[in-house]
Amino acid sequence: MELLSDFTRYADQLAGIARWAYRNGWAPGTSTNYSVRLPEYAAPAFYAITSSGVDKETIGPEQILAVDQHGQPVNGFNLRPSTETLLHLMVYRVAGAGAVFHTHSIAAALLSRLVGPFGHLTLSGWELLKGLDGVEDHDCEVVLPVYPNSQDMRALVAHIEPHLRRERPSYGFLLAGHGLYVWGKNVAEAKRHVEVLEFVLQCEREARTYGRASSS
Ligand SMILES: [Zn+2]
Repeated sequence: MELLSDFTRYADQLAGIARWAYRNGWAPGTSTNYSVRLPEYAAPAFYAITSSGVDKETIGPEQILAVDQHGQPVNGFNLRPSTETLLHLMVYRVAGAGAVFHTHSIAAALLSRLVGPFGHLTLSGWELLKGLDGVEDHDCEVVLPVYPNSQDMRALVAHIEPHLRRERPSYGFLLAGHGLYVWGKNVAEAKRHVEVLEFVLQCEREARTYGRASSS
């Protein structure tokens, strides 16, 4: 990591994203995790990620660490990488993302449970969908697959990676009763995608509650 003199810049950026998610109500009870892919010259460090069990209201850059392509820490040895490190690794492997953010909003938890494991949540008709990369018309269909939840991360990755490879969702997926995984080419795009999807999930939730569902 000596080569990565600007690690602090990445750590600052991630800590800022985590505090932003907390302020939006998407990171209660020390939950959620955020990562960014590091440049190739940082090898063996592959990506930076928030450490486990940290309050996202007050998280700082000293609570961010780098891990290698196997999810093992390469710095910050006093920290524990997020328990969901292997899921981030899977998204980098499959989607070629530049940043991966995972939130725990009420809308994501409720809707994912309503749809259920291996179902699909189709989002359509919401103007804000145009905030997603490549979407130019609110009438498009953005599909979020819903995968089952588990506390065994290795088993979970083995279980859902084949589905993720086959379905190739463009922006993210839901874990049933758990939350949302979103990615983008870089931190700015992943942030925008989270903001758009959380807004639209909230719209969907309200629409379904009041009987004006736009999709199923
Ligand atoms: Zn989670």
